[in-house]
Amino acid sequence: MVSEARIDPHVHCRDWEESYKATIKKVYELAKSQGVSAIFDMPNTKPPITTREIAAKRLRTAEMQGVSRGYYLYVAATSSLEQLEEAVRTVEEEPRAVGLKMYTSEMRGLEVERLEDQLKVYRALAELGYRGVIAVHCEKTSLFRPELWSPEKPSTWCLARPPEAEVESVMDQISCVKKSGFRGTLYVVHVSCPRTVELISKARNDGVRIVCGVTPHHLMLTTRDMETRGGLLLKSNPPLREPEDAHGLLEKVSRGMVDFIETDHAPHALSEKLNPPYLSGIQSLERYSELISWLLENGVSEKLIDEMTSKNISRVFGVETT
Ligand SMILES: [Zn+2]
Repeated sequence: MVSEARIDPHVHCRDWEESYKATIKKVYELAKSQGVSAIFDMPNTKPPITTREIAAKRLRTAEMQGVSRGYYLYVAATSSLEQLEEAVRTVEEEPRAVGLKMYTSEMRGLEVERLEDQLKVYRALAELGYRGVIAVHCEKTSLFRPELWSPEKPSTWCLARPPEAEVESVMDQISCVKKSGFRGTLYVVHVSCPRTVELISKARNDGVRIVCGVTPHHLMLTTRDMETRGGLLLKSNPPLREPEDAHGLLEKVSRGMVDFIETDHAPHALSEKLNPPYLSGIQSLERYSELISWLLENGVSEKLIDEMTSKNISRVFGVETT
């Protein structure tokens, strides 16, 4: 069987004020070396992609680096109604802007933390007639337990941002979609535990347009891998989970309950990960082809892999990459 053109719908190319971490060109070349022909870049850049003008500037930056085909981006969705309207029009009019992205937890001022503000966003999108994708980072900050985090024991990050925070936030998003009359697609990014996938599946059966993706690190790595000091390199949001969660996620993948493979490739300087501020993010695009082999070894069919890495993504986003 010939593999479809693979797409990674969640990467962070950095660049601009953070080009010391990575550039669009560097991430795109890594993607190609891993067999991925298109990447969707997230908008929490410095400065963030919140307007039409910044989105256009970002696309020009990519072109100047020789990356045009295969590069797409998201526009941030904040709780400002004016910003949301501009973001929606940008996604509707710019073919390389594939969707909106909303952060429910702290993200450089882009976050929409309060449930009432999240509902406001979905209502505004419904009123604007938005039919596209909104990718959402789901973690409910009121359930965080920051007092449990100790850099001396990196695996405590997994206690500080527990699975409940993700599960509850996904429940919030589903209820917002139902209440608001939002007509687009809710994309729950990087699900980290099987309960989340079950919730999403149930919502889909109830008629909600919802999809989800899983990362190589939440499938192949667990809290156990963070038990040494080098574990700081594996600090991510959401955090790695217990082995039974990772195993449960693989089982959901095998049953075709997960729509996308996404890497959430998030490069930082080594010093920022190993020293304060101990930034979160894993360079998981480096594991992409390893993940494909691992999935095959673990009994996931080639057909399912093609769907999760290509067909489902091009269908949901309406992006043609071949
Ligand atoms: Zn991300």
